[in-house]
Amino acid sequence: MSRDHFDIETKLISQSSFIDVANGAINPPIHYSSTFHQNQFDTFGPFDYSRSGNPTRQVLEDAIAELEGGAKGFAFTSGMAAISSAFMLLSAGDHVLISKDVYGGTYRMITEVLSRFKIEHTFVNMTDLHEVAASFKPNTKVVYVETPSNPLLSITDIEGIVKLAKANDCLVFVDNTFMTPLLQRPLDLGADIVLHSATKFLSGHSDVVAGLAVVKDVHLAKQLGFIQNAFGSILGVHDCWLLLRGMKTLSVRLGQSSQSAIEIATYLQKHPLVEEVFYPGFTTHPGHSIHFRQAAGAGAVLSFQLPNQAITKAFVEHLEIPVFAVSLGAVESILSYPATMSHAAMPKGEREKRGITDGLLRLSVGLENVKDLIEDIEQALVTASSLVGVSNQV
Ligand code: PLP
Repeated sequence: MSRDHFDIETKLISQSSFIDVANGAINPPIHYSSTFHQNQFDTFGPFDYSRSGNPTRQVLEDAIAELEGGAKGFAFTSGMAAISSAFMLLSAGDHVLISKDVYGGTYRMITEVLSRFKIEHTFVNMTDLHEVAASFKPNTKVVYVETPSNPLLSITDIEGIVKLAKANDCLVFVDNTFMTPLLQRPLDLGADIVLHSATKFLSGHSDVVAGLAVVKDVHLAKQLGFIQNAFGSILGVHDCWLLLRGMKTLSVRLGQSSQSAIEIATYLQKHPLVEEVFYPGFTTHPGHSIHFRQAAGAGAVLSFQLPNQAITKAFVEHLEIPVFAVSLGAVESILSYPATMSHAAMPKGEREKRGITDGLLRLSVGLENVKDLIEDIEQALVTASSLVGVSNQV
């Protein structure tokens, strides 16, 4: 029976309507089995070996495929494993156009690993379609987009990129980690592969490292399925189960966190110590109208700029509520320092060229009471402000 008429909130809960036929259990069993007995000598059943396929993983892969509106989903050991496996569709001599302020791990993969396999790349400002159009080469095969980007939340026009890519016979990969299919569905906008660090909002509880990919077209899906099996970085069954459980509450978690993020971003924007707030929910954000044409919300991640490293350090050290950590998209608010965390893999010069300065902080808003969060930020900013006072007097 078609489930197309269901809204995404319903699909999140009913996860491809898994019901155990044998006993009616509404959650999939965790199939801790590396191999599967074959009843017949010459015809194998749907599963033979868990690297190639596992019934628990299958429920997750079907669920994410349905949510993103693709032909097939794939679950990997991490977001980087999903991204790297997608890049393995390329061959030596191919060229990739990639967002300038891409996640640091993706930057590392493309600059330090793929380059050794003779896969070329050009970093482009994806927000500028003219620059993108002028950057295609005869050997360009993929345009790789992150929108909103990490950590500066810049917005790429997915449909605009798809038009350019198709005219140049290229695939479009979109990292949809910050938005999730709840807020943005790149395949509907013409992208070919959507990628996730499912470690983040999809799982939502800082207890799983996982990656997902969804492919729009059946033929391309077969190729990625081949890579998944050949390379073998498949997600373990227990993590598949945890991720499925986390996904059920995505809508309420991301909805609440996004609401709090707007309040915090607005508060920060008015604070005299804060030099700039990067948040696509602001009508003044340069990508605001494009973002709201292609996404249903601004999300729960924002970045902001303090004057320098010393003030940033004092601010971070006086906060009580957010954890100061790598990662995002969890029930707890997570404050990150991109310079030494998500973008540590990027040389300082490259970082600064991209606006990832020593005063930049990224906040992923969790589910704590927003009043408590703002009060906590306020008291830490007061302390950091007193430091400015001290340094001004010196
Ligand atoms: N893509 C984005 C936007 C990310 O923020 C991250 C991790 O922070 C990744 C990909 C990599 O995911 P993972 O850490 O699950 O390998």
